[in-house]
Amino acid sequence: MTTLITGGRLVTEIDSYDADILIEDGRIAAIGKGLAPPDGAEVIDASGKLVLPGIIDPHVHVSLDQGGHVSSDFRSTTRAAAFGGVTSIITYVTPKKGQLLSEAVEERKEQAEGNCHIDFGLHASLVNWEDRRDDEIPEMVEAGIPSFKAYTVYSSSGLKSSEEQLYGALLAAGQHGGLIEVHCENEWIIERKIKRLAEEGKLSPADHAASRPSYVEGEAIGAVLRAAYDAGAPVYIVHVSTAEGVEAIEEALELGLEVYAETCPHFLLLDEGKLSDPNGQRYATCPPLRSEEHQENLWDALDEGSIQVIATDHCEFTAADKDEDASDFRRIPMGLPGVGTLLPLMWHFGVSAGRMKERDLVDRLCMQPAEIFGLYPGKGNLAVGTDADLVIFDPDLPVSITPEVLHGHSDYSPYEGQEVTGWPVSTMVRGYWVVKDRELVGSHELGSFIRRGKVCQKPGRRES
Ligand SMILES: [Zn+2]
Repeated sequence: MTTLITGGRLVTEIDSYDADILIEDGRIAAIGKGLAPPDGAEVIDASGKLVLPGIIDPHVHVSLDQGGHVSSDFRSTTRAAAFGGVTSIITYVTPKKGQLLSEAVEERKEQAEGNCHIDFGLHASLVNWEDRRDDEIPEMVEAGIPSFKAYTVYSSSGLKSSEEQLYGALLAAGQHGGLIEVHCENEWIIERKIKRLAEEGKLSPADHAASRPSYVEGEAIGAVLRAAYDAGAPVYIVHVSTAEGVEAIEEALELGLEVYAETCPHFLLLDEGKLSDPNGQRYATCPPLRSEEHQENLWDALDEGSIQVIATDHCEFTAADKDEDASDFRRIPMGLPGVGTLLPLMWHFGVSAGRMKERDLVDRLCMQPAEIFGLYPGKGNLAVGTDADLVIFDPDLPVSITPEVLHGHSDYSPYEGQEVTGWPVSTMVRGYWVVKDRELVGSHELGSFIRRGKVCQKPGRRES
């Protein structure tokens, strides 16, 4: 299949320029002005629009079971992603008790294959440590799964790593070319807070934030970074939400540690006051939403490059799931939908609002996740020879955010009613249109497993 996209403005992490883009056999075959369409080529006029590399969301939860509530499945998650201009997600493989990572990977691939509108990669979760074997990290790296998720919380569900286990994982990952990603919150402080709040009968969604104050994150990030420094290993901190977290990361960067960090649109855009809304439970996530002061710190860290990635931590439940036990935050399924709103929100509140350069948007949403997680050079960039994963974005299109425009699993959005200007209109994965003129045209059988290569390809700060 051959496609020529004409008249658009291409945006990369370095600059932007007017050019046509020719796609042949799933890859970008040529970029230039006035390209002639080959015989039989489909010609798409992108005048007045931007052409961006497909967005890579490296933090997406699929079919996550929380107390019997199950979040969006592969089909609905990847459909919403495609409508939002996302062409690759990386989701998690979390082995059950007694299961090897390799067994869990096979199960997860079976669940995904034939049910994905876009491509997917997998992170291996280092949980249930009594089942983990020393050779699993090199085995996963070899299998194209070079990133590993660890938690400093959730011991009751077997997710937590002790400091020693985490240190061992950092050493092994460093040695075998893997990257450890850590969810950082101090568990014992949280447990004590929750116990106290329960005794006082304070269990509303607004009390959820009080159970996980900002220093809980800062403290845990500091501890993990000290371990990584000593292990001499790179480390990636997921969903940074606080000024204290940013401070710990910036200190580590100054010491020369190879630390990568991610924040999420909801930490940049939604403040903790939302938890006091009549439907506050629909904003409940971990870590919790924070104050505006923290938001400012996160925007600054993104601007300076101490946070390199914006990902969503997408975990999409319905309003009914969120509402069922709303009076007790311990029973609310945690997480927010976000994969479909990542690009338009960051365009509207980042680029259009003057908080982020256009090229930095592409850097934080495409290039950095590609390089850090080993998808580069095949993905993350618009260059001859790369996969034709791209999105045509109309910067002038006004859209009011509703569940209907997101095409996901949920019947609510934390951004419902928000008017934004600028929306993805067409999304291509490896030369195939998945969404065209805001209509789903692609098959749920298109997406395939991304066997990832070397992580952390361009370590260090990027010039901005
Ligand atoms: Zn997550």
